Amino acid sequence: MRPLTCEIRLHYLRENYQYLKGVHGNKLLAVVKANAYGHGAVQCAQALEDIADGFAVAFLEEAEELRHHGICKPIVLLEGVFQAAELAKVDALDLWTVVHNQMQLDDVLQHHWQKPTTIWLKMDSGMHRAGFFPSHYAAAYQALAQCPSVSNIVKMSHFACADEAEPDMTEMQIETFDLATQNLGGETSIANSAAMLAYPKTHRDWGRAGLALYGVNPFSGSLNPALKPVMRLSSKVFAERILQAHEPIGYGASFYTEHATRVGLVACGYADGYPRRAASNTPIAVNGQRTRLIGRISMDMMTLDLTSLHDNIGAEVELFGDIININEIADVAGTIPYEILCNIKRAQRVYVHQ
Ligand SMILES: *Cc1c(COP(=O)(O)O)cnc(C)c1O
Repeated sequence: MRPLTCEIRLHYLRENYQYLKGVHGNKLLAVVKANAYGHGAVQCAQALEDIADGFAVAFLEEAEELRHHGICKPIVLLEGVFQAAELAKVDALDLWTVVHNQMQLDDVLQHHWQKPTTIWLKMDSGMHRAGFFPSHYAAAYQALAQCPSVSNIVKMSHFACADEAEPDMTEMQIETFDLATQNLGGETSIANSAAMLAYPKTHRDWGRAGLALYGVNPFSGSLNPALKPVMRLSSKVFAERILQAHEPIGYGASFYTEHATRVGLVACGYADGYPRRAASNTPIAVNGQRTRLIGRISMDMMTLDLTSLHDNIGAEVELFGDIININEIADVAGTIPYEILCNIKRAQRVYVHQ
């Protein structure tokens, strides 16, 4: 069997949840959209069900899957519904939907709810992707408040730049949100992972943790030892060769050996979701020791420099996890860790719970 393995350490997921809940205080949603950022939504939600205050997914079908697998805690639909007809299921499955535009608001107000519902009303505080403008927010809030089927309104917004060093945009968004909601009652929720770690004033009634829940630091380039990487991608060296100096390796002959080089062949490629743009010099670990990729990433394989190591065929390789931080890979590949995590596929999945 091909040795590419994607280990999901569910005990780390629980530790990260507890840590982030402690940081944020109050209540914390575990964001498990997009198959829990590639970690397996059902497995992750089940591992957190007894400690999580609630979950967040992107859309109805993601929530249905969780309910069908026994998840009973609150689930928020972050994109809201796409058609009014979906509200019948929102009602039947006790989901909490986001309302971020007038059409969704009209649909919620017109729906014949069987039970009172909780609505998360989203404000566009400056990101300009989704949400009511601050000037229209109070009217939307009042319309919901007057609807007898709406028992709760959670005021929410989302940050554009909370993971960046420059605080101006985030500070401006916080101010905008607070000003436009100051006379409106009910709970609030504004912090994603980066905001809850970097801006204590974003700690409100509900935090919404995604990336950091999976143990990835939202601030690339710095370390946070409290966050434990949940996913570990590993494989093996399954062949090797010795090349003399000045020999090319791989597609495009993009890398030439500088001196005699022992080259290991690893079972992992871009078809497994490893970013093809992480080319020569990207870090990788062999039996716990750091070395580097050399040559381009192929569809199913990659080549690494074994010259300074004593290991060879059969040696364990870590693509990312405990020794190699996924942020290092994302940085050299010109992407973000979110995208890499969501893309990992074709690997054997192993769920570990200690
Ligand atoms: C995905 C998402 C989050 C989680 O963001 P992280 O940066 O992964 O913590 C929070 N809120 C909303 C609205 C989201 O869409």
